[in-house]
Amino acid sequence: MSSTLQHTGNGKGGPQPVADGRGATILGPQNVPLELQNPDVLVSPVTDAGTIPNLKFSYAMARNRVLSGGFAREITVRELPVATEIAGVDMRLTPGGIRELHWHKEAEWAYVIAGSCRVSILDEEGRLFIDDVAAGDLWYFPSGLPHSIQALQDGVEFLLAFDSGNFSENETFLITDWFEHTPREVLAKNFRVSESTFDVLPKDIEHTRYMFAGAVPPSLAADAPPVAQPPQSYTWHMHAQEPNKGPGGQVRITDSRNFTVSKTIAAALIEVEPGAIREMHWHPNADEWQYWLRGQGRMTVFASGGKARTFDYRAGDVGYAPRAMGHYVENTGDEPLAFLGLFRSDHYADISLSQWMGVLPPELVKAHLNLDDKVIAKLPKAETWVV
Ligand code: MN
Ligand code: MN
Repeated sequence: MSSTLQHTGNGKGGPQPVADGRGATILGPQNVPLELQNPDVLVSPVTDAGTIPNLKFSYAMARNRVLSGGFAREITVRELPVATEIAGVDMRLTPGGIRELHWHKEAEWAYVIAGSCRVSILDEEGRLFIDDVAAGDLWYFPSGLPHSIQALQDGVEFLLAFDSGNFSENETFLITDWFEHTPREVLAKNFRVSESTFDVLPKDIEHTRYMFAGAVPPSLAADAPPVAQPPQSYTWHMHAQEPNKGPGGQVRITDSRNFTVSKTIAAALIEVEPGAIREMHWHPNADEWQYWLRGQGRMTVFASGGKARTFDYRAGDVGYAPRAMGHYVENTGDEPLAFLGLFRSDHYADISLSQWMGVLPPELVKAHLNLDDKVIAKLPKAETWVV
């Protein structure tokens, strides 16, 4: 850990890979800010071993598409090759800013980080759902259904997650793109108007659409559709849920069991107090794609076959824990840590190591680990989440 790093060495003031009587100072170039942020990479814990794919990518390193209506930066399988199940986009819209009307093959799950926006989606029965969401709220748009996003008066920033690591936010079906690539005489027939009607279509699509500045919309009531709304909600107030509380923090879980439309993405919002850990566990049903919202911490992923690797994360980073691989998340900072864990599944599932040991016959546990009877007797019989 960082406390064991020595700041001697080449006189550049950077941390040195010298700890507990091993290692040597770096004589060559150093990227000091990155090394300071990744102490468990500069000096791996002695329990780390073997080769494990990279499990970290930061939005600070993701290409940012900066446009008149805001920005969008994505982390896909191209940035983080291990992340085959989920891709994510950090998107910001200025007040009134519009993410162009579009659809895509992948389902879209979203968490509002700050500000507020108005979203709409048309279902397969031709019914339009429209709602306003604010920080801590979610939306879920099933595969193939067309939707809109527009920021309200304070602007908005949100995380988008898609149920395929291959997805690219730059490859969605855009309404202006389709108009641009349809013969004018066909447009005229389709809309039963003259061809000249379409002389006003935007000419510079690459620079004026996808995401563009707009006027702040009127009240939700004034924007209400003239058609029936769908019976189910495509938005959800995650922070209104009662969390699962542990001695060191809490976990909220949202999946298709409560947010019924969310059929392909399950989510956990995990909060860990300073010094506490999200207990050792794994997920039997899906990879975990993490978006770090606040604070800093570290995660070691146990990959079987004697392999384990530790990564350091902080707000703005993406982490990944492949399905069935054991892991914990430790808060290494002095402020509360919060991150989202997202899973390509209709339900959240995990296996707690201490709960498993706690409900097994004690002699069976002892035969493996030689632990004292008193220690085994105190193991929890229920999941403790954050300790
Ligand atoms: Mn979309
Ligand atoms: Mn996990």
